[in-house]
Amino acid sequence: MIKKTFTAFAFATTLFAFTACSQTSAVTYDHSKNPYYSHTDNGPVKVPDAEWKKILPAEVYRIAREQGTERAYTGKYWDNHEKGTYYCAVCGHPLYSSATKFESHTGWPSFYKPLTTTSVVLQKDADGERDEVECARCHSHLGHVFDDGPAPTGKRYCMDGNVLDFEKGK
Ligand SMILES: [Zn+2]
Repeated sequence: MIKKTFTAFAFATTLFAFTACSQTSAVTYDHSKNPYYSHTDNGPVKVPDAEWKKILPAEVYRIAREQGTERAYTGKYWDNHEKGTYYCAVCGHPLYSSATKFESHTGWPSFYKPLTTTSVVLQKDADGERDEVECARCHSHLGHVFDDGPAPTGKRYCMDGNVLDFEKGK
């Protein structure tokens, strides 16, 4: 009887640990094979796509280097409400603060302004109609910016969560 109870307890503990681990690993990618990844180095990163393809997870490569888009409500962080900083998942450049994240009800993480004036750069999309948002350090595609955001900027930086990393903080 005692043994049976212990087994059930051990199982429950293992299950809890597994759940906790899987949540943590969903927060950031493994960057151990990415020598360009840094939260503090602001130097420009110029890496050929062929090399990125070897380094990055397939989904990150598809969005960041091939101007892809994740399906709404399927990526990371659209429903994240923790305080912290969002980084480029390709090079680690700091991009957004949770303080400027808002409920856009689009299924993509949305911010009304970048962390600093050197976080992102804007480019006209291939169709010439939308403004594409790129990481200012590695020029990876992150999403688009629209003029229907909230005060104080009126902007909506609509990001693909799968090309972001998040670290809890203030
Ligand atoms: Zn970057």
